[in-house]
Amino acid sequence: MPSEQTEARDRSLTERLRSSLRGEVIDRSSPGYDEARAVWNGLIDRRPVAIARCAGTADVVEAVAAAREHRPVVSIRGGGHQVAGSAVCDDGLVIDLSRMKGVHVDPSARTARAQAGVTWGELDRETQLHGLVTPGGEISATGIAGLTLGGGFGFVMRTFGLSCDSVRSLEVVTADGTVRTASRDEEPDMFWAARGGGRGLGVVTSFEFGLHVLGPEVAGVLALHPYERAEEVLRAWRDATHAAPETVTPEILLWSVPADPAIPQELHRSKCVIVGAVYGGPPGDGATAALAPQRELGPPLLDLSGTLPYVTLQSANTWRFPDGERYFMKSHFMEELTDEAIRALVDWDSRRPTPESLIVIRTLGGAVARVGPDDSAFAHRSARYNLSIDAGWRDPALDEASIAWARSAWDAMKPFSSGGTYVNFAGLGEDASGLRGSVFGSHGERLERTRAAYDPEGLFASAAHRP
Ligand SMILES: Cc1cc2nc3c(=O)[nH]c(=O)nc-3n(C[C@H](O)[C@H](O)[C@H](O)COP(=O)(O)OP(=O)(O)OC[C@H]3O[C@@H](n4cnc5c(N)ncnc54)[C@H](O)[C@@H]3O)c2cc1C
Repeated sequence: MPSEQTEARDRSLTERLRSSLRGEVIDRSSPGYDEARAVWNGLIDRRPVAIARCAGTADVVEAVAAAREHRPVVSIRGGGHQVAGSAVCDDGLVIDLSRMKGVHVDPSARTARAQAGVTWGELDRETQLHGLVTPGGEISATGIAGLTLGGGFGFVMRTFGLSCDSVRSLEVVTADGTVRTASRDEEPDMFWAARGGGRGLGVVTSFEFGLHVLGPEVAGVLALHPYERAEEVLRAWRDATHAAPETVTPEILLWSVPADPAIPQELHRSKCVIVGAVYGGPPGDGATAALAPQRELGPPLLDLSGTLPYVTLQSANTWRFPDGERYFMKSHFMEELTDEAIRALVDWDSRRPTPESLIVIRTLGGAVARVGPDDSAFAHRSARYNLSIDAGWRDPALDEASIAWARSAWDAMKPFSSGGTYVNFAGLGEDASGLRGSVFGSHGERLERTRAAYDPEGLFASAAHRP
C-alpha cells in the first residue's frame, strides 16, 4: 500500500501536469489507464503514476519541468515497441509522445520532418507519395524514435545506411527544459550521441531525415527452403553475402512457415529457412541480376520473389508480431559466420520452443560500414552480420522456457560473436546492466560524458540505462 506521503506526492505530480499540458494526463484512476500503460510486449506489466500524453514540444517542456520539480523515475515512450518495455516505468512518469504524429515531406529538399510518435508505416506512407524513403525498420508498427536513436536496421540498409545515418537534425528537450536543435553544426556532441546512443540525452521531439529515391515498386527475393537443408542453405547464403553488392541487403531466417493464403496450407507452421533480400534501386534487369545469387541457393520449397510496393514490403510481416503477445530478444554482432557457428545455430534452432520464435541473421556492410567508426555513437560499423534470437509465445506458462531458450542460444553463440550487442534488440531490464560495454564499446565513455553534460542531475538516468 502506498503511504499517505507517496499518494500526496503522486497527486501533486499529476495535478502539476494537468494544469500545464494541452494533451491528456492519465493516472491510475483514469478509465484508459490499463490501455495507456500497455506496450507491444505483453510480458511487461508496469504501473506508472502518470502518463503525460504530450500534444507537442511545449507539452514536453512542461512534462520535463514537472519531472525536475518532483523527481519521479522518468521513462519516454515513442512507438512502445522496445522488447524490454523501457517506454513504461513503475511508480514514475511516462513522457508519452505516441500522439505526436506530424510528418512533413519536402520533396525538393529531399527531407522529411517527423514527430517522435510516428511509426515507420506512417512515415513510409508520406515519403512514398514522392517516391522517396528514409531507411526504416522492417515492421511498420515500430516507432521511428527508439529505432533511430538505437541505430536502425532495415531492408535497404546496405544501400542507404542505418536509419540514424539519414538523420540531418533532431529537436530535443533537455533536462533544463531548453528546446535544442542537434545537427552536425549545432550541438555536435548531442548529434553524435543521438545516432546510436540516443537514450537518456533528453526527450527527442522530432527528427529531420534525409530522403533517398526508391519505389513505389521494389524488387526482392523471398524463398522458402526445406528445413532439412538448413545448414547447407546457411553456408551457401553466407558465401553469397560475401559477394553481394551494396545495392542488395540480404537476410536469412530460421522460422516457421506463416499461415499465409499465398502459401500451400500443408506447409503452414512447419519449420523452414527463409531467404530474403531487397534491391535498393529500381526494379528491372539490373535488380534481377544483382539479386540472382540470393535466389540460387538450391531448390526452394517455394519462391515468392518478384516486385512489390515498398509500403507493402514494409508492412508485410507486421501481422506476425501482434501487440500484447509475449516476446524476448537477444542479439550478437558477428564478423563472420563460420561453419561451426552455423552448426551451433541450427542445433539451437532445433530446440526453438514455439512457431512464433525465430532466428534472424541480417547482413550489414555496404553503406553501414562506409560511415566512419567514430562518426556516430553506433559502435558496430565493421560487423558483417547481426544475429538476433527472438522468442515469441502466447501462453504465460511458456514464459520461463521461452526466455531460457533465447538466453541459452545466445550464450551458445557467444564464442562466434564480435563481442557486441544491439541496443534495440535487448531483452528484459535485467540485461541492461551489461549494456554499456557491449552496446557502445569504446564510445561508452564519450557517451556518458555527453549525457552528463546535458543532464548533470540525472533526470533521465533511468531512461539512459534501459535499452
Ligand atoms: C516487431 C518488432 C520489429 C522490429 N524490427 C526492427 C528492425 O527491423 N530494425 C531495427 O533496427 N529494430 C527493430 N526492432 C527493434 C526496435 O528498433 C526497438 O524496439 C525500438 O526501440 C522501437 O522504437 P519505439 O519508439 O517503438 O520504442 P519505445 O519502446 O517507445 O522506446 C524505446 C527506447 O527508446 C527511448 N525513446 C523512445 N522515444 C524517445 C524519444 N522521443 N526521446 C528519447 N528517447 C526515446 C525509450 O525511452 C526507450 O528506452 C523491432 C522491434 C519490434 C518489436
